[in-house]
Amino acid sequence: MSITAGVGVVGRGAPGRMHGIPYAGNREISLLAAEQPGAIRLEIGQPSFPTPPHVLDAVREELGAGHFGYTPTQGSSELREHLAAKLARVNGVRVDPASELTIAPGGVGALAAILAALTRPGDEVLVPDPAWPNYLLMTATTATTAVRYPCPAASGFEPDVEALESLVTPRTRVLVVNNPNNPTGAVYDAATLAALLDVAARHDLWVVSDECYDQIDLCGSYRSLLGMDGDGRVVAAFTFSKTYAMAGWRIGYAAGPARVIDAVVKVLEACSSCVTSVSQRAAEAALTGPQECVSAMVEEYRQRAELACDLLGGAGLLVAKPLGAFYVMADISQAGMGSRDFALELLAERSVAVAPGAAFGPSCDGYVRISLASPAADLREGIARTVDFVHGRR
Ligand code: PLP
Repeated sequence: MSITAGVGVVGRGAPGRMHGIPYAGNREISLLAAEQPGAIRLEIGQPSFPTPPHVLDAVREELGAGHFGYTPTQGSSELREHLAAKLARVNGVRVDPASELTIAPGGVGALAAILAALTRPGDEVLVPDPAWPNYLLMTATTATTAVRYPCPAASGFEPDVEALESLVTPRTRVLVVNNPNNPTGAVYDAATLAALLDVAARHDLWVVSDECYDQIDLCGSYRSLLGMDGDGRVVAAFTFSKTYAMAGWRIGYAAGPARVIDAVVKVLEACSSCVTSVSQRAAEAALTGPQECVSAMVEEYRQRAELACDLLGGAGLLVAKPLGAFYVMADISQAGMGSRDFALELLAERSVAVAPGAAFGPSCDGYVRISLASPAADLREGIARTVDFVHGRR
């Protein structure tokens, strides 16, 4: 008998609450693009750079030594010491590496564990519109309800703090903030961050601050919300995926008040025991080795952002200039179709994959997201074909 044949036969019904919850909306395009040889891939936030050589050297050494045991769930104490130094240097935050920090399987693992640690079933979680779609999957796994707060294009995709506050109810428990932002490239003004903290304080909310793009700061305007927190209500997630082009190594970390980190570690212990020890060694090498690779990659992203803005702006499709992360939104509303249909047709007819705006929230169905993590030549050709496709449908 096949595995699927048994489901339903003995009346167990649908497999739990994830049944029927949709996958992230850009996954459909990615899967199709992967099967289309020669497709230009502008839909995914996968750095085009290899992992820096000093990281690979350290890992080769580690492999030679042959030690592959468990580490503590929280991560090796050496790596946590280096991370505490990084948080002080880059983010302006002082944390105790023994109690206020944990390693996690990627930024996504850190965020999922933080949300599981902070919420109770039935709680409401304030999630930006638009937002990285995985937050919605996380609210589904925690049996909480996502309530979307607007970050309008007309204000450079900064949160509308007044509108956000009007959405707070007695059930609201967590405010999710993502800065620098995927999918918009926004980097929030310090006054906006202060206003968000103020709302959280007045309504006694936890703040989950996704700072996974902290070092992809194209204009030098990023400030850490964790660093601005005066009363222990912010828990932040970070990653090696973007800064060091280490997406496949699956390593990130969470920092925040000790009692929250303690609960986060329990969730991680339930799910993953520890992050792969080789990846922890790689992360240590990334932090302690030369950092010029980071500035070189950021400089390349800055140039790609300029290129994309010139091409989209010249064609009248630019929505807002990205200040951080590596994404730009293109306005495809002139094409007269929804963003999912647009992305499917663009892929089928012009062999270019872009992420449909609707995947990030209801406010963005007139846009598609273009990833600046893709090489400049792909951006030039992919954007030219996208512009031509939009103009051809006017
Ligand atoms: N947060 C945001 C906003 C992201 O865009 C991503 C990845 O694309 C992540 C978190 C998590 O990245 P990872 O799990 O690779 O560290």
